[in-house]
Amino acid sequence: MNLTKELIHRIQSVIGAHKAPVPLHVPEFQGRERELLLDCINSGWVSSVGSYVDTFEEEVARLSGCAHGVAVSNGTAALQIALLVSGVLAGDEVLMPALTFVATANATSHLGAVPHFVDSAHDTMGICPASLRAHLEKIAEVKSGVTWNSTTGRRIAAIVPVHVFGCPVNMNALKSVISDWPMAVVEDAAESLGSYYHKNPCGSLGGIAAISFNGNKIITTGGGGAIVTNDLTLAKRAKHLTTTAKLKHKWAFIHDDVGYNYRMPNLNAALGVAQLEQLGDRLKQKQLLFDAYAKAFNGLIGAKLFTAPEGSKTNNWLVTLMLERDKADQRDSLLESLNMANVTTRPIWTLMHKLPMYVGCPRADLTTAIDLEARVLNIPSSAKLGVLQENVA
Ligand SMILES: *Cc1c(COP(=O)(O)O)cnc(C)c1O
Repeated sequence: MNLTKELIHRIQSVIGAHKAPVPLHVPEFQGRERELLLDCINSGWVSSVGSYVDTFEEEVARLSGCAHGVAVSNGTAALQIALLVSGVLAGDEVLMPALTFVATANATSHLGAVPHFVDSAHDTMGICPASLRAHLEKIAEVKSGVTWNSTTGRRIAAIVPVHVFGCPVNMNALKSVISDWPMAVVEDAAESLGSYYHKNPCGSLGGIAAISFNGNKIITTGGGGAIVTNDLTLAKRAKHLTTTAKLKHKWAFIHDDVGYNYRMPNLNAALGVAQLEQLGDRLKQKQLLFDAYAKAFNGLIGAKLFTAPEGSKTNNWLVTLMLERDKADQRDSLLESLNMANVTTRPIWTLMHKLPMYVGCPRADLTTAIDLEARVLNIPSSAKLGVLQENVA
């Protein structure tokens, strides 16, 4: 059998054969969603204040191993404000993987800062600490505790490790690099709610983190995001800035900064509270699905299932196939055939430095990112496909 037929056969042995496309990832509403939404509507508090926002913030923080949470309108806004309160200014550079969703770069650009793209590692698909160190040794210098890019003359203010598809970045090695090149660490934990690096949840591994609750993520609020941190000062500033920077007063409208209306509506938070109650179920279902795929792909030649490294526990947000190097030239024809067979399959993102608005940005050698871009595919990963395995077993 050729690789195309083999893949379709093995994937369908897990998810079944279907007359309509099996989506990559759909949300599940199996808990108190309807009850809490109705309660929210009946309360009249559907918009920018309400008790569901408070509960949601507490729960998101708790699940992320952080003391504080700030609910916002989406993950991109969360990233932008996390960077802002971490001290990123217009004209600064922010290190991030070239292999990420465009929001990481956009959030940086919205602050007037400049994305600076670095390479990824094969074992995590996230930033490669070794090549980061080599790159910084080449282009950066530290003066009075501040890291500068000596080739552009700009300050390097922060780094954004992205936990790709839920797999945690090698944070210990990354932090050892940052100890020599000081800068803020802002996690892009948009995809990694429920993932752990050693004993610690993603979102608690840097100074501050951004999470997304978009409809395609493991838990959704329809659209939404959150900032989580253990730093009370950062949390307070983030809450203030995302709620129009209004000072508390019985009636007067006094604002002390150029704030943002990035609040999460109470209606979305109500949905989110019900969703978060099911995070444990979702994680179990997605693990069952991953295990079923692992069994089905056993002995397959030409592609293998990406597996998180020892010590990490991924939330299995999107199941990832990695083509062998000699099969990379078949990627586009595989995409065509699998999607034709109703097995929704997607490539990983186009590297950031190839997008027209980011071609001119500074970047490191991107050898591994280029290799991963050519070989990574995502296959149907919805939690309900895991429920199917439960029934089979
Ligand atoms: C989804 C996502 C974001 C942005 O979140 P939105 O809620 O869609 O704005 C940022 N980074 C990564 C890696 C993402 O997957």
